[in-house]
Amino acid sequence: MIRSCVHTHTHYCDGQDSPEVLIQEALALGLTTLGFSGHGAADYDDAAMSPENEMHYQAEIRQLQAKYKNQLELLLGQEHDALAPYSSFPYEFLIESVHYIPAAGEKLCVDWSQARTEENIRRYFGSDPYAYCQAYFRTCAAAYEKSPAQIAGHLDLVSKFNEGAPLFDEADPRYLAPAREALASAVDRGLVVELNTGAIARGYRTLPYPAPPLLQSLRDLGGQVIITSDCHSKPYLTFWFEKAAQLLRTCGFRSVLQLRASGLEEVGL
Ligand SMILES: [Zn+2]
Ligand SMILES: [Zn+2]
Repeated sequence: MIRSCVHTHTHYCDGQDSPEVLIQEALALGLTTLGFSGHGAADYDDAAMSPENEMHYQAEIRQLQAKYKNQLELLLGQEHDALAPYSSFPYEFLIESVHYIPAAGEKLCVDWSQARTEENIRRYFGSDPYAYCQAYFRTCAAAYEKSPAQIAGHLDLVSKFNEGAPLFDEADPRYLAPAREALASAVDRGLVVELNTGAIARGYRTLPYPAPPLLQSLRDLGGQVIITSDCHSKPYLTFWFEKAAQLLRTCGFRSVLQLRASGLEEVGL
């Protein structure tokens, strides 16, 4: 039913496969649209493409768009980290994501490890995990305010290492209030919020981003969702998509959006 994934990483950044391997997988799955979203150059981010590599990435996807134009829509996009400069390259779509938060003149990675997250909360946030979460969601809200992107990436990535709640309680108002402000900012700016299954594929979480209470808030705000896998390895290109559709139905959604070459299109659930 969902025949599109536009959050896809290749070996140009931290993905395992070449673009063409992923294209073959998309064709085998019967997808209509495959969007590439390499991590845009950011000198503080090991997962990102180098500026030179990003140019090679653009050139290869352009070539593949021509080669496969009668078989599959290929979109050339970028996952932009909120603290990085924007590229002047005319990407066909952008995903706005927060992987780092600013603190004491440094950029703290939010998705590295549970141990580093605990250390950052202790060192930079006076051991207050809710101050840490608030800083994360405020970085999201500020990014969405000025973002030219179409999609808000993994909105509650700050919960990546919180399966079973070792770090904070995601039902606490000190967590939910800033998370809902970030959601409201995305909706106000017209960004589509992704339902991202990547952390399930990689064994970090049992539910997608955003968590169900935030999906319900998003529905109440009148926001819209796009299902993506944040694919870093070809077996997971459409991982958990059917379950994601079911989850969205239980959260009150009746449709999702798909990004096509012609733009965003609504698909009933
Ligand atoms: Zn990301
Ligand atoms: Zn990604």
